[in-house]
Amino acid sequence: MNQSSVPQQGGGLEQLPCLYCGETYGPGDLALHTEPVHCGPCITCVDKPACFSCRLMYCVCDVHRYRG
Ligand SMILES: [Zn+2]
Ligand SMILES: [Zn+2]
Ligand SMILES: [Zn+2]
Repeated sequence: MNQSSVPQQGGGLEQLPCLYCGETYGPGDLALHTEPVHCGPCITCVDKPACFSCRLMYCVCDVHRYRG
């Protein structure tokens, strides 16, 4: 509903904060933040990139399980 658009700086290298973890990443980490991981039984985090932290307490994914 409430969509806040972040002003973007033009020029130079374009760096957008990650949709899932909020971190700004470079080309080297692109796969980590954009490539979907087909992790399995957990429907909350399936097809989310590796940087995504699943907050679901029943999540069993090695990649997505939230490490606090
Ligand atoms: Zn990310
Ligand atoms: Zn997962
Ligand atoms: Zn999960």
